[in-house]
Amino acid sequence: MTHHDDQLVIDVISIFPEYLQPLDLSLVGKAREKDLVRVDVHNLRDWTTDRHRTVDDTPYGGGAGMVMKPDVWGRALDDVMQPGSHLLIPSPAGRVLDQRMAEQLAQDEHLVIACGRYEGIDSRVAEHYRQAHRVTEFSIGDYVLNGGESAALVLIEAVVRLVPQVLGNPESIIEESHNISGTLEAPMYTKPPTWRDLEVPEVLTSGNHGLIDDWRREQALIRTARVRPDLLQKIEPERLTKKQRELLFRLKTEAGQDADSPEASRN
Ligand code: SAM
Repeated sequence: MTHHDDQLVIDVISIFPEYLQPLDLSLVGKAREKDLVRVDVHNLRDWTTDRHRTVDDTPYGGGAGMVMKPDVWGRALDDVMQPGSHLLIPSPAGRVLDQRMAEQLAQDEHLVIACGRYEGIDSRVAEHYRQAHRVTEFSIGDYVLNGGESAALVLIEAVVRLVPQVLGNPESIIEESHNISGTLEAPMYTKPPTWRDLEVPEVLTSGNHGLIDDWRREQALIRTARVRPDLLQKIEPERLTKKQRELLFRLKTEAGQDADSPEASRN
């Protein structure tokens, strides 16, 4: 195993290791080839002790479905967890993954992702490892999946692209949606300038970078107000120019949100 000190290491444990095969492809696959991150996928059934390789049992208290056994998970995690490891458990009842959380996870040294199936993992597993480790139950959105594998793929992709040197052009992180300014990204266009009678906004072909930056920031705010008005509240006005603050104030008022008027219109 090649591993250098500051390399992010991710271990994924699942009963469907094949589900994680996309991690061989594209950006994450390349980052692994270049040794920028190490990702190891394990089969939970390797830690079973019975002939049938059983990982689940009926729930105490009754109810539909099966629950994953704590003893099997305990053996697996005891082998994989290290003193500074951060245990991540996908769960629709967890904290919703966002860009801030991805940024924090990209600073970690060792992430262990425990993918549940059925009705999830016996709750004592999280409780036990919390005694000596950071344990985060995370959700990728308010809907229910069949298992944690696709959530693990989402988390790994969001985190690995933030690891230094993984992206060819680090600028793209700064400019994209959910970046530090808290807005969605402005609409993007490429050649040709006219396509099916639709023109690229004139300002983008003007060559005037000041005007282009202003237009993009304005469009980002307008788009955020239209698609994700909930995000308007989180935008920090200090990060905006006077013109943008005025626009934000107007958009918040239109969205029926309480705009803190003095702050928004001052300066
Ligand atoms: N009984 C569980 C509940 O209502 O909280 C749902 C279990 S779900 C059918 C099976 C597994 O899928 C979960 O243990 C978790 O690993 C994963 N999962 C389901 N929805 C998820 C979501 N929105 N985000 C992350 N993981 C999810």
